[in-house]
Amino acid sequence: MAIPEKSPRWDLESIFPGGSSSSEFAEFRSKIVSDIELVERQSSQLPRKLDSTTYQTWLEIFRLVQDVEMRLHQATSFAYCLASQDISDERARILVEENAVLHARLEQIKTDLEEMAVNVSHDDWDRFMAEPQLAGMAFFWNERRRNARLKMEPKLERLATELAVNGYHAWNRLYTKIAGDLRVEWIEDGKKSLVSIGQLANKMAAPQREIRQAAFEKFENAWRSIQDLVAIELNALAGFRLSLYKARKWDSPTFEAFLMARVKPETINAMWNAVASVREAMARYVEAKKRLVGIDSFRWYDQLAPIGTSEKKYAYPEAARFIVEHLGSFSPEMGEFSKMAIEKRWIEAEDRPGKVPGGFCTSFPLTKEARIFMTYSGNYNEMMTLAHELGHAYHSWVLRDRDYYARKYPMTLAETASTFNEMLVTDAALQSVTSSDDKLPLLDKKLQEHLQMFCNIRCRYLFETKFYEARKKGPLSIDNLNDLMVEAQREAYGEILADDGYHPLFWASKLHFSETSVPFYNFPYTFGHLFAGAIYRLAKNRGKQFASAYRDLLYDTGSMTCEDLAKKHLGADISSERFWTEAVENALEDVETFLRFTQA
Ligand SMILES: [Zn+2]
Repeated sequence: MAIPEKSPRWDLESIFPGGSSSSEFAEFRSKIVSDIELVERQSSQLPRKLDSTTYQTWLEIFRLVQDVEMRLHQATSFAYCLASQDISDERARILVEENAVLHARLEQIKTDLEEMAVNVSHDDWDRFMAEPQLAGMAFFWNERRRNARLKMEPKLERLATELAVNGYHAWNRLYTKIAGDLRVEWIEDGKKSLVSIGQLANKMAAPQREIRQAAFEKFENAWRSIQDLVAIELNALAGFRLSLYKARKWDSPTFEAFLMARVKPETINAMWNAVASVREAMARYVEAKKRLVGIDSFRWYDQLAPIGTSEKKYAYPEAARFIVEHLGSFSPEMGEFSKMAIEKRWIEAEDRPGKVPGGFCTSFPLTKEARIFMTYSGNYNEMMTLAHELGHAYHSWVLRDRDYYARKYPMTLAETASTFNEMLVTDAALQSVTSSDDKLPLLDKKLQEHLQMFCNIRCRYLFETKFYEARKKGPLSIDNLNDLMVEAQREAYGEILADDGYHPLFWASKLHFSETSVPFYNFPYTFGHLFAGAIYRLAKNRGKQFASAYRDLLYDTGSMTCEDLAKKHLGADISSERFWTEAVENALEDVETFLRFTQA
């Protein structure tokens, strides 16, 4: 086996041969379906009492549910990979949807089991979870049982879940549809075309300011044309969530988000307090950047402006070898793993039409593999995407022998390994170039990321917390929403953005505010960025001997709270502001380096 000489297609045949018409895959799925039917039957007949006469039946059901879910994950990953590599593969798309239905049935079974768990005494339950065959999934079930006790009675929760399908989640589907249908007329090189809102957003990263500005103005106009619809959707969605929280007696709009993220509110507050101090340092970076790119004021659409126009190219084999070498210099295991993933063609990187946009990594828990999807055409960002996704793959590799339910990590920890890889490879890339012409664009990309994490994500969090507080009193008008957003941007960016440089309609354009599967989908980004940065700092200071500690930390990401994980593996108290202040200061060293090179 060798590293492919050009951007490769991945190997899915070794998982199931024959693509979406694979008979092996069909057989695998029908066994999942019959097993789901079996557990549905068994769990509906399960005696509610957990004693010596029912012990074995309970145990078998809990084992079987986990096993079926793992196989369903395997099947969903396969169908998802097929659908992503070829948008015309109708059969694959249907398979993805059918799997989602199976997943919902499995969720229902888990909710039933959770309800039964709540009715068992603490002592009986603890004894049950200490059973060697269940101990590996104890954290998962203990958490579900504890959270269930914080909710309404099961009958009401069941109704709420059902109403949410055509209420709460329907608002998100409606948003996705109207945002997806937005088209804008765009003229470039004398050619007129209709572009999607996503394509338009990409133009805000153009080197020419006229293009960025024109794109932004069209972007704001497009969102303004549907602002009344989005305002209705967002107010309704938030109203639904608040009513549900009120019925559960949850005072804080962030309560559920923190519960899902396995993090304490004081930890997130400590993090934001530390982040609030970055504005002055980030403003110095922005001042220097303004001079470099020749602009006199910094506006929303300048955040992704690149430095320099010509970029160094990295051919696929060159990028692959570079990543393997530098990951391996920290941890031989990480290097070998990445080499294996590349050589076994776990990566779909070919640049061809008919693929979905974007990149992802998905795991195949049954066969203990992963697949990475991206398009590799040779630029620096793509090399970083490859390093990033290989981090996700390594994370699932480290977890591969654990119980399936101990591999499910929260959003806050999901980006630890991917960000860590990116930091390692970014630093190696920076060291591989010598002139400031080559270094500055790379440093700038790091700083753009800091600006995103510290200011952009913080403004989303500030807006969302204030919006939910205000929404308790009633729906907000478009003007209210715009004002609240500008206020949040002013607080998060300070002097960085010019007075005429805000994006008032960000509440409409950012899909995360309308996301219903993950509430408050913002703070996990900043958490992950700083947490991975703190780990990376330790790796730099302690070198290779830290590699096994890092591995051990990843191993526990699916079976601990964020606080316990940091305490156990880093000896750190992440609920204290000190931890975050240090992490922020680490990141701000990049500002000093950037300033040094701009002066050179
Ligand atoms: Zn990621």
